[in-house]
Amino acid sequence: MDREWGSKLGSGDAASAQNEAIDRRERLCRLALETIDLAKDPYFMRNPFSSYECKLCLTLHNNEGNYLAHTQGKWHQTNLAKGATREAKEAPAQPYKQKVTLRKSVKIGRAGGLME
Ligand SMILES: [Zn+2]
Repeated sequence: MDREWGSKLGSGDAASAQNEAIDRRERLCRLALETIDLAKDPYFMRNPFSSYECKLCLTLHNNEGNYLAHTQGKWHQTNLAKGATREAKEAPAQPYKQKVTLRKSVKIGRAGGLME
């Protein structure tokens, strides 16, 4: 009887150790979910097929943890860097539009000058 108890305790320890490992992983995942706010992630998108999408890399993910793992990946980081440079180039687009409208009014002025 004593031996049976011992073996049961042994297997129980192994199981609890496994559970601890799973717990730790879940805790890490939850921690990542807390530190990285997916609501603030401009590239995170939940699609109608109950999966998650990275709008930046156009990749599909089964769950939030998978997406988070992807955001730490090289591919996403590379695209993120590319996206950052693209955004920097697109930034002066607004004053450029103003210039275009200004040029138009100048053209009208010139045309008017030629007409007279
Ligand atoms: Zn991505």
